[in-house]
Amino acid sequence: MKAVRATDDGVKVIDLDEPPGYGELLRVVSASICSSDLLYQRLGLRRVVGHELAGIREDGTAAVVEALFGCMECDLCLAGHYNLCPTHRTRSLGATADGGMAEQFRAPAAHLIPLPPGLDVRDACLVEPASVSWHALRLAGTGPDTRVAVIGAGALGLLAVAGARRQGATDVALEARHPHQAEAGERLGAHLKPEGLYDVVVEAAGSPSALARAAELVAPRGTIVTVGVYLGLVELDWKYLFHREAKVMPSIGYGRHAGGREMEDAAAMLAENPDIARTLITHRFPLADAAEAFRVAADRQAGALRVVVEP
Ligand SMILES: [Zn+2]
Ligand SMILES: [Zn+2]
Repeated sequence: MKAVRATDDGVKVIDLDEPPGYGELLRVVSASICSSDLLYQRLGLRRVVGHELAGIREDGTAAVVEALFGCMECDLCLAGHYNLCPTHRTRSLGATADGGMAEQFRAPAAHLIPLPPGLDVRDACLVEPASVSWHALRLAGTGPDTRVAVIGAGALGLLAVAGARRQGATDVALEARHPHQAEAGERLGAHLKPEGLYDVVVEAAGSPSALARAAELVAPRGTIVTVGVYLGLVELDWKYLFHREAKVMPSIGYGRHAGGREMEDAAAMLAENPDIARTLITHRFPLADAAEAFRVAADRQAGALRVVVEP
């Protein structure tokens, strides 16, 4: 069975005797490359990569993998906040546990989420990153009257645009660095060039300059929510936050709320608007060409938004 593993010289297609993971068997159909996968490689992690996964179960139905397993026993997991489970760091797919960019993968049945009608399994790997942005927007309290600005127009930023529109926000501004990103953002319902101040500012670039820009744009009593990953010390000009009593809220992953799982919400959004996947998925490669897929995904100038590997 073929799988894609991080090595000291980039990713390699390797042969495994057994599918990675544990639980129910999934024939993987689509696995997309996330900037976290590139980060894990830089951090020296050498697992089978992949946490944005969709495939076909043994009963023939399509499913997407909820990639945050949690222990499902602690109070946080039982409350639906399995993104905050203390065991999360030891179970992170593609980082501290083998991921699923492979012909087959095993995942606990409780974390296989059926696809809604209208969502193609070839596009359904996008449900995972869409859930990350969806969760951040909810955490920040996005609603119909919320003015939302998104800083950074990689896949998570663009999925935040789509998610904010879907959560009812009518005024969604996007700051994009590259022309192809700006064009994608407009297609998904954002206007370019934020003006004035915003109730929710989604920081989706993961850079100090993006965080600085978010602080400039946040409204009084507003919230900056980060989907960008920061590890270690973070510098922020406090004067904006101080004068506006603004909040800074990190977000990680996704979970469950009273109405269901955030992954189900994100899947429903993608099913209802197939143009999101058409806009986001710019490249598809067979598993054998995974190294080239990673090269394209890492090249910001190459015009890639989400690169999908199809085992
Ligand atoms: Zn990801
Ligand atoms: Zn737990």
